[in-house]
Formats: sequence, structure tokens, C-alpha cells
Amino acid sequence: MISKLRALSFITIAGSLVAISSCTTAPIIVAKFCESDAYLIDALYDGGNFYRCSASPDNTVRMDIYPEDEPPINPSPWYSFRISPRQQADVRITINFHDAYARYWPKTSIDKENWEPMPETDVARSTDGKTMTLSLRIDDRAIYVSGQELVLADYYYSWIQTLADRNDVSTKMLGRSVQGRPIFVAATDPKPESILLVGRQHPPEITGGLAMRRFVDTVLGETDLAIKFRDRFSVIVIPLINPDGVVLGHWRHNVNGVDLNRDWGPFTQPETRGVANYLAGPDGLGDTLHLMLDFHSTRINTFYTQMPEESNLPFDFATVWLQRASSRVPKFEFKHDARPHSGQANTKNYFYDTYGIPAITYELGDETERHIIDQTTPIFAEEMMRTLLELP
Ligand SMILES: [Zn+2]
Repeated sequence: MISKLRALSFITIAGSLVAISSCTTAPIIVAKFCESDAYLIDALYDGGNFYRCSASPDNTVRMDIYPEDEPPINPSPWYSFRISPRQQADVRITINFHDAYARYWPKTSIDKENWEPMPETDVARSTDGKTMTLSLRIDDRAIYVSGQELVLADYYYSWIQTLADRNDVSTKMLGRSVQGRPIFVAATDPKPESILLVGRQHPPEITGGLAMRRFVDTVLGETDLAIKFRDRFSVIVIPLINPDGVVLGHWRHNVNGVDLNRDWGPFTQPETRGVANYLAGPDGLGDTLHLMLDFHSTRINTFYTQMPEESNLPFDFATVWLQRASSRVPKFEFKHDARPHSGQANTKNYFYDTYGIPAITYELGDETERHIIDQTTPIFAEEMMRTLLELP
């Protein structure tokens, strides 16, 4: 069944949008919505996604969640749907996670901007993690339910616009995704040294995206430290590498079914190739690059780094940086996971191999509290700047 997902197209039947698979002689009609007298459930908005749902007259709903293409795929089962009420009702939605377990705690929103985790009393996860049942009261307003907050392509495009308005930042489109969405880079004034920050290779990894925004805001801020840092280092930011996956609500891949964080080196995909061409082009970084940070999310806060003996700097940057940050936020728990080279074609290995620099996967926990991310990330940014400024 999964292999048919890539060939879905949408048609209108009786005024409703449905998806059909074109891979079979007798098309399977997959309802991307379900409804009862009391509500309509759909995912027809940017970031919205589930595979199918069915509603019973007693206001119980069965929903199925599949990855966007063939397993194996990292089990990061994204779901986001809207419940539009027709009358007040108590709805019970059981989500069945196929090829995965319930990973993201459900959050709700009325406006798609402000999100609240659902109360524990309203969420029941099965012991094997394969199903999760949500109890919701609906009355007069549509409710959005998502595995994580919606932080979509538009968020990044308006951020880029904000950066473009600055005198000391230049922005450009370095390429387009498979579906033609722009991929932007923002760079502060050129300097003999530089750092590179990248994000959203994996669509559901929202906490990494939130941390990246705080991090960049701190490095581009007006503190003495940030100004001094930018006098010496150019800051290159590529905040959204997989816009199609973000808009389509993918678990991990781009629309060609490729994990972009396994395509650094092969560069078979337009998203990664665009970055590679930029880095190799006239605006590229050459041997100025001193650090690469790639923002992601996983179960717990984790920094994946090279081994200490692999450092080409006078000191092991990652260890010094993370110890300094930790001493300022001792209650913020994280793992410094230094690992030997895995051989995977990911950003971390590519930038270490190509530039011989610290290249770090910066992972926030899926459910790390957002105000904790807001409070602690600037400390990591400040200590990054201080530590790099100590380089001879
Ligand atoms: Zn990731």
C-alpha cells in the first residue's frame, strides 16, 4: 500500500477533495478527510498531513498515519489535521501509527500560531506505542491538532525578508526544491573567516528549527559580543533546506523520497546540490569556514560531534564550547555525543571531511519546553562566539 503513496493525485467528488492512487488498475480512493454530523476532519493546508481517517456516528474516529514513501524511514511520524465543528461534540480520535510509534505529543491551536500541548488526561498511548487516542471537545471554532507546531515555509520566507532589510546582510536564492520552492541563504558581510548554520532538512524537527532561530537572532544581535564576532566572522544561514517536505507534512524525505541528510557528497537532489553549488561558487566560503552547525530534533537534547582527537584546532572546540555553555545553564540537560566518523553522507561528515572543521549536529529534544529553548539557546550562541573568538 505504501508504494502507492507517491502516485496520489487529487480529484473532486461530490464537492470534496479526495486522493486517488494511479498505480492500480482499479484506483483506490483514499479519503483525505472524514466527517460526521458534528464535524469535518481534513489536512488540506500547508503542513497538514495524515493518510486517511474514518468517522463513526458515535464521534469516534480512526486515523491512519503512514510515512511518505517506502520504509525504512526514520520513525518521526508527522500528523497535522483540522477539526471543523458543525455542532458541539466530544470526539475521540485514535491515531494508528504504521511503521512507527507515537513520537510527538499532540498540540492544539486555534490560529496555527499559538500551540498548547494537549493535557495528559486527554491523551492515551497504547503500551506498544502504536496507537494514541485523543479526546477533544469541539464547539464553534476549528481546532488544529499537530504532532508539533506548524513552522512552515512562509515563516522562513518572512524571516529572510527581515534579514534582507538589514544593511549588513545579503540574501539570495541559492536554488529551488524539487517542486520549485525557493531555498534561501542569508550572509552577513564577507570576512576572512566564516561559520555556516543550516536547518530543517527533516521536516518534523521543529524544536531544532526554533533553536536555530534563537541562535541566529543572538549571533546577529546588537550586543558587543555579537558585533565583535561579526567583525571577524561572516555568518552564513541556510534555514530551510527541505521546503517541500515541510509544506507537505513529510516525516523525513524530500518529494523524491530521499533523506537530504544522506545526500551530502552524492548531491543527487536539487536541495543539497543548490547548497553545494553555492558553497563552490563565487559567493562560496572556500577555506574561510571554521564551523558548521546543522539543527535537528531527536528524543533528547544532543550534540553529535567529532571525536576530541579529530580536532584540527588548537583545542577541541565542541568540548570547550559545550562545557562553557553548560556551566551557565546547569539545569539544561544535554548529551555531548562525540562519535567516530559513521561514513554516512550527512552534513556533519561532509563538512568535517571537506573543510576539516568542527561540524556538529545540534539536536533539541522533541518535547524540550519551548521557553527553555528560548532561554538557553542564546547562551549556546554566546559561548560559540566567545570560543571561536579565542582562535588565533
Ligand atoms: Zn534530523
